[in-house]
Amino acid sequence: FMLLTKKLIEVRNVLNSIDHNDTLKLPSIVVIGSQSSGKSSVLEAIVGHEFLPKGSNMVTRRPIELTLIHTPHTKEEYGEFPSLGLGKVHDFKRIQETLRDLNMAVPESECVSSKPIELRIYSPNVPDLTMIDLPGYIQITSKNQPISLKEKISELCEKYIQEPNIILAVCAADVDLANSEALRSSRKVDPLGLRTIGVITKMDLVEPERGVAILRNQDYPLHLGYIGVVCRAPGGSSKENITQAVIKTEDAHFRSSYQYSQRGVFVGTGTLRRKLMDILEENMGSNLGSIIKAVQKELDETRYQFKVEYNDQKMSAESYVAESVDKLKHRFKDFSRAFGKPQVRLEIRHMLEQRMLDICAQRYWSDPRINELPQLDSSSTPEEDRLYWDLQLDLASTMEQLAEAEPFNHHPDAANTIKTMTHEILSSRSQATADQVENTIKPFKYEVECTDGEWTEGVKRSIALVQTELEMCEDALAKIKTTVGTKKLRKAINFVIESDREEARRAQRREAVAKLRESNPRQYLEDQARASRDSPSESTEPHGEHSQDDDAHAQEDDRSASEDEDELEAAMRPHFNPKLLVKAREALSLRDRALVLKYRLSALKSKTCKNSKNKAQCPEAFLAVVAEKLAYTSVMFIQVELMNEFVFQLPRMIDSRLGVKTGQEAMEKFARENPLVGKHLELMEKRMKLEEVWEKLNYLVRRQEEAKARKW
Ligand code: GDP
Repeated sequence: FMLLTKKLIEVRNVLNSIDHNDTLKLPSIVVIGSQSSGKSSVLEAIVGHEFLPKGSNMVTRRPIELTLIHTPHTKEEYGEFPSLGLGKVHDFKRIQETLRDLNMAVPESECVSSKPIELRIYSPNVPDLTMIDLPGYIQITSKNQPISLKEKISELCEKYIQEPNIILAVCAADVDLANSEALRSSRKVDPLGLRTIGVITKMDLVEPERGVAILRNQDYPLHLGYIGVVCRAPGGSSKENITQAVIKTEDAHFRSSYQYSQRGVFVGTGTLRRKLMDILEENMGSNLGSIIKAVQKELDETRYQFKVEYNDQKMSAESYVAESVDKLKHRFKDFSRAFGKPQVRLEIRHMLEQRMLDICAQRYWSDPRINELPQLDSSSTPEEDRLYWDLQLDLASTMEQLAEAEPFNHHPDAANTIKTMTHEILSSRSQATADQVENTIKPFKYEVECTDGEWTEGVKRSIALVQTELEMCEDALAKIKTTVGTKKLRKAINFVIESDREEARRAQRREAVAKLRESNPRQYLEDQARASRDSPSESTEPHGEHSQDDDAHAQEDDRSASEDEDELEAAMRPHFNPKLLVKAREALSLRDRALVLKYRLSALKSKTCKNSKNKAQCPEAFLAVVAEKLAYTSVMFIQVELMNEFVFQLPRMIDSRLGVKTGQEAMEKFARENPLVGKHLELMEKRMKLEEVWEKLNYLVRRQEEAKARKW
């Protein structure tokens, strides 16, 4: 009984969730009526609860798509807003508030919106129905309502009362039906009244004779007839179901007058409910064929698309998450396998050696008197902190790469989580690791023992290092040469050298003048006076009688003379592009550096460095030995305290924070972040839902045929 409606309502909800262009339409009951005609009261009497927003200020501004779901095996009554995700709302007052908020969110300037609010009500006391409540027709436009409002409401209603929907035209008994906007509108789309039911409210406000006359309406005949109701809510507790109370009041009212018991006169909310169910069921039945056709077509198209685009490959959020996590863990495993103890040691040694090159460049190689090397300072071992941080940085950047690789490029949140996890594990292990490493390498601060074999190795490695450094230096120089051009560069370099020399000379002179002014002011003044007598353009050749040594050259120059000389020189100076000069300086310093490196290389290759006693003359070799020792010692603890923990913890963290354990919702969200996967999932879902609908429809058709066969 009434199975068709129930099943088709389920079908309708499924179709609603996949179809947004309304091609698959199932009939619904559309409630129209003028403001204050008693529309809300009728709907609430059917539902059994006050849940619609009340008030004079246009409280219904959006259509409310109301789905009533009969749940016979439970006492629980609740509402659900599928698009809001509020879950079950048991308090009908809260449903009322939510509806009011949703309606009021439509801006005053728009007045009404055609975007429906979806509301489902589950209860053992409701019939299976789908009803749509629309804004009430307004008679007169009040001062603060725009004139177009009336038209807007009419348009909205007109859109909803089209086939295959059933129209519930609500009119108040105390208002002349000739003035009913609801009947007028419904006649436009359904002139014979084949799918329109008239509901006459407020029957208590008219005498029985008049009431019956309205219900037997001859002026506006409706095929489905009129039903009279008295639906004023009885008030009282909002928890109670009001349907029975309404029916009781109605019974009392309609039984008191014999007129209402005549044949062909229909009264009462109970009758209305039954009638609505029948009509909807019948309507659904007659629409079944066209629905099936539409679903079949949609399903065929979806299957075809799924085959063509995805080769029928199944996909779910869960499988995608599992796959992505697997990929990540796999890559991590590859990385950790390729980054075992020997690699860590190599990495550390490499870092230390780079540091060693820095130290040598700063402390030794920049010193022109490279032969008078100072005693090697044993405290120059690189700080263990830096070592640790470098390693951490290295891991972090590796993880960053893993986090940004496909498919995580689509999932910025997840990528961030990976980085956060890396950081969490590493920083939780940092102190312990740093402490351990510091303890183990402490002895090297005081003494570094080194066998001949180790020394030979150190020398070899440092030669290789310096060699590489030298090659890099020469490469850089060659690059400058090709970009600038050898000839041009040579000229620029010569110019730089020359002007540096000149600058040095001038500085020397200025210094000498300053010295003279301090030590012999008289002489200084005399010199100045003489200089001003001479023409400034005259040669500044030394005046023999005054000059005793080189320093004395400066005595002839006074300030103004030297300035003039500068100007003159500037005018004669060949013009060089400042950028070129920068390149020239760079080339010059590279050349110097290469020279020093070549010198160091030959030193390392010399006999002196063959002997481990000569550590002081071979700092590079010594530091290479130290680097190897430090790397060898510290790697054990870095491996145990940091790497092993990291390799152990990370996959577990990935599982718990990104994997399938994060819950369906999180997985869906994750999967849909990837647009390709999102599309795949959507189509897959559509296909599954259509198949489900198809099953249901087929079942219904079979049932109908069985019923027909029984009848015959
Ligand atoms: P709507 O604007 O069409 O939704 O109308 P309402 O349902 O809000 O009803 C408008 C007014 O009519 C309210 O004050 C109701 O209490 C009252 N009303 C509704 N139904 C009846 C009824 O059957 N009899 C009487 N006397 N009043 C009713």
